[in-house]
Amino acid sequence: MGGFARLAAAAAAVGFSACAADVPLVDLAIENVTVIDAENGARTARTVLVRGDTIIDVVAAGDAPNAEQVVDGTGRYLIPGLWDMHVHTTYDPALTPAMPGLFLRWGITSVRDTGGLLDRVLPVVEAWRAEGATAPRIFFAGPLLDGAKVVYDGNGRPEICTGNATVEDARAQVAELDAAGVDFIKIYEMVSPEVFDALVLAGEERGLPIDAHVPLSMRARDVAPRVNSMEHLRNVELDCSANPAALLAAREREFVRDPGEAGGDLRTRLQGLQRVPAVLAYDARECEQVFATMASTIQVPTLRLNSFALHPAFVDDGWFDAVAGAPAPIAESWDAAGRAWRADPQQQDTIFAGWSLRMVGEMHARGIPIGAGTDTPINYSLPGYALHTELEMLVRAGLAPLDAIRAATIRPAEFFGVQEMGRIEPGMRADLVLLDADPLADIRNTRRIAGVVTKGRMLAPEALEQLGR
Ligand SMILES: [Zn+2]
Repeated sequence: MGGFARLAAAAAAVGFSACAADVPLVDLAIENVTVIDAENGARTARTVLVRGDTIIDVVAAGDAPNAEQVVDGTGRYLIPGLWDMHVHTTYDPALTPAMPGLFLRWGITSVRDTGGLLDRVLPVVEAWRAEGATAPRIFFAGPLLDGAKVVYDGNGRPEICTGNATVEDARAQVAELDAAGVDFIKIYEMVSPEVFDALVLAGEERGLPIDAHVPLSMRARDVAPRVNSMEHLRNVELDCSANPAALLAAREREFVRDPGEAGGDLRTRLQGLQRVPAVLAYDARECEQVFATMASTIQVPTLRLNSFALHPAFVDDGWFDAVAGAPAPIAESWDAAGRAWRADPQQQDTIFAGWSLRMVGEMHARGIPIGAGTDTPINYSLPGYALHTELEMLVRAGLAPLDAIRAATIRPAEFFGVQEMGRIEPGMRADLVLLDADPLADIRNTRRIAGVVTKGRMLAPEALEQLGR
């Protein structure tokens, strides 16, 4: 039975008039709303028609739409469902069960899980993808693919990496992940150039998009053209300084010398030796060469995290309100941490925070694609709410509000080669966020949520309020 026939039959079954004009043609209509997406800009006085999980039309507002459910969009704004491009659903098991609700509550209808062991991530993926689940769409990488040493080894840090000492390990690892159904792979910081190469080739052979941190054994300009996205601007500062070859040689000496320290300790030590000196030795001519290699690589700068020293979560009253809606143990401990900080704000070094903001402005000015991701739940990053802070930080860095929206809608769809997400047009998936105020006037208005449509289902404010607790 086709969609129309099914609806007609359903209407007849509940005793509606058999008159064809009374049969709802669509499931949901959001009427007389200003529609905004990053490709089409703002279009006023539109009615958006949804059937199942598909936007079937965007028409001029006029006659009452023939729909099962009609939502008044007068004076409101409709944007595509938002993505968080950098989350770890299994990083803090206390938060994992609340995450789908928290994301949806804040209008995040899709996430990219950028690292977790398969035996923990797969059950999450299965639960979120179950028929009728109230959960965002989830795209996942499985574990961080690290080198002979691994950073997140489970000793004092969560276990979210797997080691790849050899090229053979790398090939076997990607084959295993592909068989497990991952949507992309994520290459981490301790891999050798040979293992990096093998991972990239294996990902390409299998049609898996590739995400990476710049490995400490390599330079950003050699990594960027070979991957689809890069995270945190990590180690880019090393290649944007006055003498990147000397910095690389110094790191190589440390790898060879190997005093037997754990991967995480080695990384921390190398960052301590090189990061701030590299930022202070920023060289515009060198960096221009790095930028030139990034034209088609999405940069996910996680500015909320990188620039935390300049804009701590705790300065924001909205963060406290949002945290209050999290599960009680998280709400209590995070609230206490926020209050302690407010009572005695710690002065932090802001050199790297300021550099990160400036870099994103420079990249955006050169047309380098920027993606919005938060590293939730790391560093008091509340699932869902944090993405709105990231949008705010992207605008501070120099993106127009519409470009910030692009970073959280069209860019992630591009990363996965998904054609039917990111815009509000016929044929697109029905993920939408209804706002009470104009996000183009002030990007912080993306927090003023009057409803969320996820996979075609409208969640009204009363329903959203109950999610994620
Ligand atoms: Zn991460």
